[in-house]
Amino acid sequence: MKQNTMTPAGAIHAWNVGKQHKMVIVSNRLPVVVQDKGEGQWEVKSGSGGLVTALAPVLRDRGGTWIGWPGHVDKDSQGVDDLLRKHDEEIGYSLRPVMLDDEEVENYYKGFSNETLWPLFHDLIDHSQFKPEYWDAYQRVNRKFAEVVKSNIEPEDFIWIHDYHLISVISYLREMGVKNKVGFFLHIPFPPTDIYSRLPSRLEVLNAMLAYDLVGFQSARDRRNFVQSVRSLKDKPKIKGKGQVIGIQGEMGKLKAGVFPISIDYKEFNSAAQSAEVAQSSSVLRQLFPNQKIILGVDRLDYTKGIPERLRSFREALRRFPELIGQLSMIQILVPSRRDIHKYEDLKIEIERMIAEINGEFTRPGWLPIEYQFRSLDRKELLAYYRVADIMMVTPLKDGMNLVAKEYCACNIEGNGVLILSEFAGTAAQLKLGAILVNPHDTVECAEAIFMAFHMEEKDRKIKMQKLRRNVNRSDIFDWVDSFLKAAFSIGLGSFPLLADYRPLKEGREAVIRVESTGTL
Ligand code: UDP
Repeated sequence: MKQNTMTPAGAIHAWNVGKQHKMVIVSNRLPVVVQDKGEGQWEVKSGSGGLVTALAPVLRDRGGTWIGWPGHVDKDSQGVDDLLRKHDEEIGYSLRPVMLDDEEVENYYKGFSNETLWPLFHDLIDHSQFKPEYWDAYQRVNRKFAEVVKSNIEPEDFIWIHDYHLISVISYLREMGVKNKVGFFLHIPFPPTDIYSRLPSRLEVLNAMLAYDLVGFQSARDRRNFVQSVRSLKDKPKIKGKGQVIGIQGEMGKLKAGVFPISIDYKEFNSAAQSAEVAQSSSVLRQLFPNQKIILGVDRLDYTKGIPERLRSFREALRRFPELIGQLSMIQILVPSRRDIHKYEDLKIEIERMIAEINGEFTRPGWLPIEYQFRSLDRKELLAYYRVADIMMVTPLKDGMNLVAKEYCACNIEGNGVLILSEFAGTAAQLKLGAILVNPHDTVECAEAIFMAFHMEEKDRKIKMQKLRRNVNRSDIFDWVDSFLKAAFSIGLGSFPLLADYRPLKEGREAVIRVESTGTL
C-alpha cells in the first residue's frame, strides 16, 4: 500500500490508494477579499475560518483549486486572475475567480439566491420573491460557474460544490460533457414539500440536485424533506437504505444523499477563549454588569434568526418574573448583513423599535435591560462576549445548523453557562441533551426558559454544559470534512487523504484564509 508522505504511520485512513484525485471546491464567494489599495496597488486579504481551515490541508496536499466570486472588484477578469495566481503559491492551492457584473449580482445573488431560495428554504414563503428574471440570471450565472469549473479540471478531479447559490452548476457541467464525480453540500435547510413546491422552477432545481453523485444535508430533517419532495414530484423513485447515507434512484440517475452536520474548530475556539487577551476583555465586560447575569444574543441581521420573537420573550420574562429586573441584562449583538435588501432594513427598524420600547418600559437607575450593538465584532471581542455570557439565547425560526451555538459551548471554558436553543435550529438535533430547547414562537415558553436558566443550580449547569462541550468537541469541522469525503470514497467518487491523517499536525496548523463575511459562502 502506497503511503502519503504526510500521513503519520499507523493513522487510520480510508482512501483508495493508487489513484490520486485533485479536489476542486466551488462556492459563491472565494474565501479571500480582494481590495483596491489605490495607486494601482491591490491586495488579497486572507485569514482563517472554520470551513477553509478544514479544507485547506486537503486542497494543499493535491494542489487543489477553489473557484468562486471575488466580490465586487473594479478590475478586469484577467487582472483579478493574475492577482490570485500570485497568491496561489503562498497558500498552497489555487484560487480561480468567477466575475459577475452588476446585473448578475442583482438578479442571481440578491435576487434568486437571497430573495427566492433563502426565505423559501427557511419556510418563510411570504418573504420569497418569484421573478422570472431572477431565475434567468441564476441559470446564466450557474452556467458561468460551470464554464470556469470545466476549464480548471482534469478528468479524475473530484468537484465539491457548496450551497444554494450553485445548485444548477451540475446541470451545465453535464450538458458540457463533464463526466467527473461531483458532490454538493446544502448549508441551509431543505423545506417541507408543500413549501418547496411553491417554487416555479421546483422541477429544474430538484432535477439538478438529483444529478449530483453525492448530496449532503445538515440534518436528518432536511434530507427527509428532500426525499419527500422527490417522492412527490418525481415518478416512482427508488429510495434505498437508511442511516447516514441513502441511495435515491430514478430517471435522473443514482444519487447518494447523506446527513453531515457542519461544525466548528472546537479546539481553536476553546484555546483562543483561554487567551490572556480574551480573559482580560471578558473581565472588563463583567465589571460593567455588577451583580447581574448576562443573557447574550449574537446574530446576523436576518429574519430567520427570530430576533423580534426573542425580544418579545425577554419582555415577557421581565413582566412575568419581576425579580429579573435589575438582575438580568440582555446583550444583543446584531451583525450587519444584506442591507441592500428592503426586508432587512425593515427588520432592523423593527428590532430597534422593540429594544427602545423594552428599555423605555423597564430601565431603572443604573440598569439597562438590553444593551444593543449593530456591528461586526472581531474574533477576540466575540469570544469575550461568549465567555462572559451566563446564558446564550440562540432562537432562530429555522436554521440549517447555527454555528454561534457551537462556538458559545466551545468558549464556555468555566463550563457553567446555559444554552437556550430553538428546536428549529439544525444544531438542536445534536445539542438537545444539554440545551434548554424552545419553540421560538412560544413567547411564554421562552420567557419561562429564561427564568429557568437564570435560576439553574450550578451543578445542573455544569452537567449540561459538559454534555454540550463534549458533543461539539467530538464532532468538529474536521470530522465534518472527513465524513463527507469518506462517504464520497465509499461510493467510489475519489480518493483523498482524510483530515484524520493530518491530526498530529493539527496543533501546528497555521490559519490560512479567513472568510471575512459572516453568513453563508
Ligand atoms: N460572527 C462574526 N462576526 C460577528 C459575529 C459573529 O464573524 O460579529 C460569526 C460567528 O463566529 C459565526 C458566524 O458569524 O461563525 C455565524 O454563523 P451561523 O451559522 O450562526 O449563522 P449564519 O450567519 O451563517 O446564518
